[in-house]
Amino acid sequence: MKVVKTIQEVRAQVQEWRKEGLTVGLVPTMGYLHEGHQSLIRKSVSENDRTVVSVFVNPIQFGPNEDLEAYPRDLNRDMKAVEEAGGDLIFHPEPSEMYPGHFTSFIDTTETTELLCGAVRPIHFRGVCTVVGKLFNIVLPDKAYFGQKDAQQLATIRRFVRDLNFPVEIVACPIVREEDGLAKSSRNTYLNPQERQAALILSKSLKLGKAAIEQGERSAQRIIDIIRQNLQTEPLARVDYVEVVDFENIQRVETIQGETLVAIAVYIGKTRLIDNFIIKG
Ligand code: AMP
Repeated sequence: MKVVKTIQEVRAQVQEWRKEGLTVGLVPTMGYLHEGHQSLIRKSVSENDRTVVSVFVNPIQFGPNEDLEAYPRDLNRDMKAVEEAGGDLIFHPEPSEMYPGHFTSFIDTTETTELLCGAVRPIHFRGVCTVVGKLFNIVLPDKAYFGQKDAQQLATIRRFVRDLNFPVEIVACPIVREEDGLAKSSRNTYLNPQERQAALILSKSLKLGKAAIEQGERSAQRIIDIIRQNLQTEPLARVDYVEVVDFENIQRVETIQGETLVAIAVYIGKTRLIDNFIIKG
């Protein structure tokens, strides 16, 4: 397993692999890797001859008051995690490698980014799509792997790949959770023990919503109410949003039918956590 920091080095390595006729998978991450990321890497390893993992805390997807500086970083830990999952190469560029001076071109998407996190983090998805598009052009992977944990991101990436004809197959991977149900996230490290306990309210509330749908409830508003009311029973939780949308376009629905995304964002103390489930109505 190798770590490279420049675009030139990744390209040279991928070109060598291509000459040998090998296929390449890409797993874009911001590092501080956990089993969620490793599940993506393992999936890529099982479907491609070589797997590149990018580890880059992408400054242009963070708003001015967000946690860019505080975001956890530990390359040694990430190297072990990639090695353990069978990845072949880490691309770990400096921000100046990805964003030289006078950087003025962006991938901007509409529709799928209007609601949920897009509504409260206005430049977030422009930053995500731009860096992911750059990574696609740098690595030129056959397939790229994304977690359903960030469901709106997944829908948005699928959209721009389709709209802009990027020659890459997007593979979605299920949410990996802690044993008690909390969705694994690098941001969970911000939680103190009391907040870590309180954070269980996200998965518990979603479970109630899911059970109601499984029992036949089809009103999106009823599901939102059930989830919101349960979230409000936790004193450390402050709801950012609870939304029921169609998974393809990320637009609100009144009635649950087809592939539906039920997504929440909740502050536990100062830490903003997201979670969701997708259900076929
Ligand atoms: P991040 O490092 O948070 O930008 O995440 C990198 C990739 O890992 C994204 O595609 C995420 O959706 C995915 N990911 C993060 N956490 C999880 C999880 N708990 N389960 C599955 N995928 C995840």
